[in-house]
Amino acid sequence: MSTRALHYPAEVLRREQLSPHLVRLTLGGAGLAGFASTGVPDEWVGLVVPGQFQSRYYTVRDWSGGELLLDVVVHETGLVTEWAARGDEIVGEQVTITEPKGSFAMPDGAAWLLLVGDLTALPAMARIAETVTTASQVPVRVWAEVPDADEVRGLGYLPAGVDVNWLAPPGPEESRLAEVVERIDWPDGAGYFWMAGESAQMRAIRKHLMRERALPSTAYDVMGYWRGGAKRQPRAVDPGPIWRAGKAAGKSDEQIWADYDAAQSGTGDR
Ligand SMILES: Cc1cc2nc3c(=O)[nH]c(=O)nc-3n(C[C@H](O)[C@H](O)[C@H](O)COP(=O)(O)OP(=O)(O)OC[C@H]3O[C@@H](n4cnc5c(N)ncnc54)[C@H](O)[C@@H]3O)c2cc1C
Repeated sequence: MSTRALHYPAEVLRREQLSPHLVRLTLGGAGLAGFASTGVPDEWVGLVVPGQFQSRYYTVRDWSGGELLLDVVVHETGLVTEWAARGDEIVGEQVTITEPKGSFAMPDGAAWLLLVGDLTALPAMARIAETVTTASQVPVRVWAEVPDADEVRGLGYLPAGVDVNWLAPPGPEESRLAEVVERIDWPDGAGYFWMAGESAQMRAIRKHLMRERALPSTAYDVMGYWRGGAKRQPRAVDPGPIWRAGKAAGKSDEQIWADYDAAQSGTGDR
C-alpha cells in the first residue's frame, strides 16, 4: 500500500487582507472534490504555491461548501509570505494542498481548556475554541500574542464567551510565550493545554510542563509552528514524514513532536 500523501490541486478563489499581517485565502475548484476534513480542530494541510516544490503548513480555518479557508501570516520573508503578499494578482492561481492531519486530543472529562499561541496559531485556536464551546460547557482561556492586536480584536476572530488575553510580541520575529506560560495561574482539576508558535519557545514549554507541572503527555499538545533566529531560512525539516513514521510506529502525538524537535535541533542551522 502506498504511504504517499494525497495531493489536491486548488484554485485561489478569493484573497482578503484581514489585518496588516493576516491574509485569508479561499481555495476551491473541482480538484478539492475528494478533500475530506479529519474533524480535528487544529488540522493542517501542506500548501505548495506556484513555482515552488516545497510545502508550508497551514491550519484549515474552515472547510465548507467545497471551499477551504487558510489564514496566512505575512511576515518578513518566505516562500508563501512573498507569494501571499502579492495581492489580488494571486486570485485565479493554482496551488496544491496535501491531505489534512490533526493532533488536538482533549481528553473526555477535561474541566478546562487553555490555548496559547502567536498569530500563526490563531486560526487553530479559533477553530478549537469554536468546536469546544459549541460541543460543551468547558471554559476556554486564550493567550494570543499578535501584532496589530486592535485590528485582530476587531475581526471578532475568537468566539464570544472565551476569555482572551491579547499580548504584543516583543519584536517582529520574536515571542515571549514561554515566559507567559510560566506565569499562568493554572485552574484546579484536570484539563487540557494546547500551544503553538515559535519552536524554541515551544521546547522550553514542553520542559516546563514535564518538569515543573509534571503533566502527563495526554494533558497537553505543544507544537513548534515556525523557527525564529538570526539566520532566516526555510524550515529545514518537513514534519510530514516524521508524522507518518511516528503514527505508523504507534507513537503518541507528543512523542512525534519531540522527534520533530530533535530532527530540527540536529540540522544545526539555528
Ligand atoms: C501544523 C502547523 C500549522 C500551521 N498553521 C499556520 C497557519 O494557519 N497560519 C500561518 O500563517 N502559519 C501557520 N503555520 C506556520 C507556517 O507554516 C510557518 O510560519 C512557515 O514557515 C511560513 O512559511 P513562509 O514560506 O512564509 O516562510 P519560510 O520560507 O518558511 O521562512 C522564511 C523565514 O521566515 C521565518 N518565519 C517563518 N514563519 C514566521 C513567522 N510566522 N513569523 C516570523 N518569521 C517567520 C523563518 O524563520 C525563516 O527564516 C503552521 C505550521 C505548522 C507546523
